[in-house]
Amino acid sequence: MNSTKRTAIFPGSFDPFTIGHMSILEQAMPLFDEIIIAIGVNSAKKDFFPLDRRIQHITSLFTDTPKISVDTYTSLTIEYCKKRKAQFILRGLRNTTDFQFEKSIAQMNSKLLPEIETIFLVTPPEFGHVSSTIIRDLISYGTDVSEFIPGKI
Ligand code: ADP
Repeated sequence: MNSTKRTAIFPGSFDPFTIGHMSILEQAMPLFDEIIIAIGVNSAKKDFFPLDRRIQHITSLFTDTPKISVDTYTSLTIEYCKKRKAQFILRGLRNTTDFQFEKSIAQMNSKLLPEIETIFLVTPPEFGHVSSTIIRDLISYGTDVSEFIPGKI
C-alpha cells in the first residue's frame, strides 16, 4: 500500500443521506485519494431509517465512484480512523451552531490523536437549510422530500 495515500473518514448518522452530504463529498473529492462514508452506529440513538436501508441507499449513489466507499462503525471515531489508517476526518459546516459544536469535537480528537486532522468544508448557500433532522420531520408529516435526497431511499 502507498503510505502517502490520503484517506478521509466522513462520519455521520446519515439518517437519511441528503443533497447537503452529497455536496460536501463533491467538494472533498479532489482533496483525497479515498473517502470512507462511515455510518456511526449508536445503540442508544433511535434510528429513523434502518441501518441496512441507509447503507444500501448510500452505496447505490457511489457504485461508479471507486474513491468512495461506505462502512459502519461502533467505536469512537478516532479509533475507527486508526483502524482504517485514515489521516483525516471530514465534516461539513452549515452555520455557526455547527461550527461551535464541531470545533470542540475536533479539538478533543486532536488532543486524543494528534496525527488526525479534521477538515471542515463549508456548504454552498443553497444547501445550508438541508438537515437530516428537518427531513425526518417532514417525512413524519407525509411531505415529499425527494428533492432533498439524492437517488432513492
Ligand atoms: P451527525 O449525527 O454526526 O451530525 P449527520 O449525518 O447529521 O451526522 O452529518 C454528517 C456531517 O455532514 C456533519 O459534519 C454535518 O455537519 C454535515 N452536514 C449535514 N448536512 C449538511 C449540509 N446540508 N451541508 C453541509 N454539511 C452537512
